[in-house]
Amino acid sequence: MRRVVIIGGGISGLSTAYHLAKAGVASTLVERRPRLGGVIQTDTVEGCVIEAGPDSFLSAKPAALDLIRELGMGEEVIGSNDHLRVTYLRKGGRLLPLPDGLMLMVPTRILPMVSTRLLGWPTKIRMGLECFRRPRDTVSQDRSVADFIRDHYGQEAVDYLAEPLLAGVYGGDPEQLSVTSVLALFVDLERKYGSLSRGVLHQRRSAAKSAKARPLFQTLRGGLGSLIEKLARAASSHMTVVTDEAASVERQGGRFLIRLGGEPVEADAVVLACQAYEAGELLRSLDGTLAEQLGTVPYNSSVTVSLGYKRDSFDGHLHGFGFLVPRKERRRLVACTFVGTKFPYRVPDDKVMLRCFLGSAGESALGDSDQTVVSDVRAELRDILGIAAEPAFARVSRWPRSMAQYTVGHKRRVEAIEARVKAIPGLYLAGNAYTGIGVPDCARMGKQAAEKIVSNEPAALAGR
Ligand SMILES: Cc1cc2nc3c(=O)[nH]c(=O)nc-3n(C[C@H](O)[C@H](O)[C@H](O)COP(=O)(O)OP(=O)(O)OC[C@H]3O[C@@H](n4cnc5c(N)ncnc54)[C@H](O)[C@@H]3O)c2cc1C
Repeated sequence: MRRVVIIGGGISGLSTAYHLAKAGVASTLVERRPRLGGVIQTDTVEGCVIEAGPDSFLSAKPAALDLIRELGMGEEVIGSNDHLRVTYLRKGGRLLPLPDGLMLMVPTRILPMVSTRLLGWPTKIRMGLECFRRPRDTVSQDRSVADFIRDHYGQEAVDYLAEPLLAGVYGGDPEQLSVTSVLALFVDLERKYGSLSRGVLHQRRSAAKSAKARPLFQTLRGGLGSLIEKLARAASSHMTVVTDEAASVERQGGRFLIRLGGEPVEADAVVLACQAYEAGELLRSLDGTLAEQLGTVPYNSSVTVSLGYKRDSFDGHLHGFGFLVPRKERRRLVACTFVGTKFPYRVPDDKVMLRCFLGSAGESALGDSDQTVVSDVRAELRDILGIAAEPAFARVSRWPRSMAQYTVGHKRRVEAIEARVKAIPGLYLAGNAYTGIGVPDCARMGKQAAEKIVSNEPAALAGR
């Protein structure tokens, strides 16, 4: 029997363990935290479902939903309340709605773009003229998201659309993020149509013929933590969890030796389902070059703050899913979700809950006390929404160096890592540093690693 060791008990590692278990392969999962799930953590306080990390997944990426259905949790899937979907953006001290018809930062409807107060006339005219761009047949080099969007729509679209929208997902900087890795679809559309707006419209028309209308985001009624519990239970017949910190992965007599705080373990296959910089440190003595390459994937930290209020004492006005704060207008708050509006079943009728996200601004909040973070966030909410009410509860969650940043050149970096990993038979990588940052991507990479182990193929970083 081959022995498989998985390092990291987030969704990537658990997905690997589950798919191995399904194929009858036993694994040992090493997780240093006392609980499984990594950044996925759900708590329930006074009837409110609090997501400390991710709160949902994109419906367009099927891997999470496939896994959920396989686990028999299909009935628990809920969609976002898209009939109430309006997202606001802060500009010049006011909250302005994002215009209808945007696909991320690409406009597809004329009237809402003409009437929005979010963008000035030079940007609106530029957006109109963008529709006449010719296809680019030259294979372009990777560029930053900011360069790409600036080229199509100008700087204001970077500052008031691309930056805040991507900060909410990557907690990152569009001047650094790679357009090839982060907005691959738009790069394809540019090549094919020239104009992103025309490309999106074409694509929508053909998708509308085949696709069923689904909400943009989906999640589980009781929170994503219930997926972790179910996954762990489903894998448990073939999975042994060791709560310990892996210190190194070495080669010994044709097998791997994994040194832990406690007894070392041997393995025929190892899946590093932890952050890339952690994987690099673990592999330093095995392959110094690979360790260096893994260490070059940058990460950002983030902090989430959930504030629960009694409805009868709440003094703010909530409309839509929440708001984003562009960096130009930002102090600490990057985004705020009105949880009860965005998702049903998450907040009882007598409560109101706001979930605030401090993206790259989270770095500075990591070292602050909960009290300081909460009081800063409340001061901003008072400024932005006029909320002075005392919250009934507040929960702060810190996620240091947890969000991989797909910076310019990311694809090449991953290809180089993959080539190096292939040269070490039995070694596999999964996690948000490689071919997708979201929960569905990580579930997919975990599954791919398991499939490769079962079929004894090298390396596990197959495409999207
Ligand atoms: C605040 C936040 C909000 C997000 N929101 C969304 C969202 O709404 N939708 C979405 O799709 N995605 C979202 N994401 C992204 C997504 O949640 C993550 O990319 C994904 O969950 C990462 O899973 P993972 O298993 O790869 O890594 P992690 O969850 O980080 O798990 C890695 C695990 O490895 C363990 N580990 C590391 N080193 C060692 C070691 N040496 N020994 C033992 N254990 C080790 C860690 O303790 C950790 O538990 C969000 C992320 C964050 C942080």
